[in-house]
Amino acid sequence: MRKKGSSKRKYIVVTGGVLSGLGKGVAAASIGNLITKAGLRVIPIKCDGYLNVDPGTMNPIVHGEVFVLDDGGEVDMDFGHYERFLGVICKFYWNLTMGKVYEAVIQKERRGDYLGRNVQLIPDVTDYIKEWFFRVADNEKADVLVIEVGGTIGDIENELYVEACRQLRNDVGKDNIIYIHLSYVPIPTNVNEQKSKPTQQSVALLRERGIQPDIIIGRCSEYLDDKIKKKISIFCNIEEKAVITGLDVDNVYKIPVVFSEEGINQIIKEKLGISSGVKPEWKKLVDNLANPEKEVTIAICGKYTKLEDSYASILEALKHCSANLRARINVKMVETTNVKNQEDAKKLLKGIDGIIVPGGFGIRGTEGKIQVIQYCRENNIPFLGLCYGLQLAVVEFARNVCGLQDANTTEVNPKTKHPVIDILPEQKKITDKGGTMRLGAYPTVMKEKTLIWELYDKQKEVSERHRHRYEVNPDYHKVLLEKGMVFSGMSPDRKLVEFIELPKHKYFVGTQAHPELKSRLEKPGPLFYGLVRACLG
Ligand code: GLN
Repeated sequence: MRKKGSSKRKYIVVTGGVLSGLGKGVAAASIGNLITKAGLRVIPIKCDGYLNVDPGTMNPIVHGEVFVLDDGGEVDMDFGHYERFLGVICKFYWNLTMGKVYEAVIQKERRGDYLGRNVQLIPDVTDYIKEWFFRVADNEKADVLVIEVGGTIGDIENELYVEACRQLRNDVGKDNIIYIHLSYVPIPTNVNEQKSKPTQQSVALLRERGIQPDIIIGRCSEYLDDKIKKKISIFCNIEEKAVITGLDVDNVYKIPVVFSEEGINQIIKEKLGISSGVKPEWKKLVDNLANPEKEVTIAICGKYTKLEDSYASILEALKHCSANLRARINVKMVETTNVKNQEDAKKLLKGIDGIIVPGGFGIRGTEGKIQVIQYCRENNIPFLGLCYGLQLAVVEFARNVCGLQDANTTEVNPKTKHPVIDILPEQKKITDKGGTMRLGAYPTVMKEKTLIWELYDKQKEVSERHRHRYEVNPDYHKVLLEKGMVFSGMSPDRKLVEFIELPKHKYFVGTQAHPELKSRLEKPGPLFYGLVRACLG
């Protein structure tokens, strides 16, 4: 395999042990965040073991939110953390899945690239994985590549990534790479003591595979005490000061602060020669989050409410508002499947200051959402509709304001007399489900003097990310406008409605896009900011 990459470039490999869901993505993003303080270009790579080409076809209840990138790539929520913590716009090819890797290796084999010999997992697939790393690093001019290996150490499906990362040390030189292992330190209720055995065993699995960690992060509900740090140090062959607490926190933005306090910057300096740390602006916003001065309650009305991760970016966007408006935001997840009428909606929304109807697919819960939207519209309750939320707001308005009885989206009722939401023309012939929606960043031309235009700093054109198959049917634009709906933003060819609002209402706003995906701690998504501000009065 060709050796590639700049000799100054540094590599940070992050693996996880014991359990899934310990926050490896947040840990990797936090380390990257600390390094950006040095003004270095940090590029994340995420390696997933599954055979899906991307997570776009998975149910959010199984896998959490599908995150969409500017380039239209569908990736997992970890990319949301990367974008929010590193201030980069990620690209689809920064995400490796075994689906993509095998697809490419098999194509190479068919082309004849391996002519005359058998193609093997090692070295052919591992070489391909490493070449991919170097390609990303070179193309993106990365100073530091943070490689997150998905899954838990010992999982069969991630072994090839682990092996590629082991080999990487020889390719890039031992002074240019560190291995960080995120583990779990439980405190069993009956013993009430921090326990190191799961970490010992998980590091043993890592060392069996030829990787000695340089830093161990122990996820724990309290700070790791000196005794346990010492024990982990002895059993895992690591310096005591390189054992760092991965504390349970109420907001993930604290993690870089916790890692810093635990001394991670010093280890990064010693091992890689990079000066890292928490940026002062970041610290200030984290402090704001801990010291709110006001309080509001916002309900998210969706059907994937069983798993909060289904709405991960919306929850983050609200935290960004919380930090910037110094308001505690209580979020209530609300199922609408049993909301049948205005009485039900009223009961459900008791004590709630504002509503978000998020993106979604399929029939279940839609009539309930429409009831909730009607209640917000008629009772001047702040409302934000995202994608499906906009579409259902248009359905509600068509039925109850325009008098188009039975109006619907054809996603719910293909035979409706009034298909006010209909499938996009370019979607009609598509039958494949993977990666075929209207995906990624699209520009919107704004209508001046509207509330949304003001929220977007009066820009003429804005860009947000999309993920949908249906749209507001152009045949109904006229009647909606005549009855008082405002289209605050349209696609440049004026065919697609991108933003709607109702004037005279406290805050009744919808977008065909997913602005939650681009919201940042330092700059909250404008429509979320507007919603929370309206709720605060
Ligand atoms: N199901 C709707 C569509 O495909 C909305 C999608 C979404 O909310 N992301 O257009």
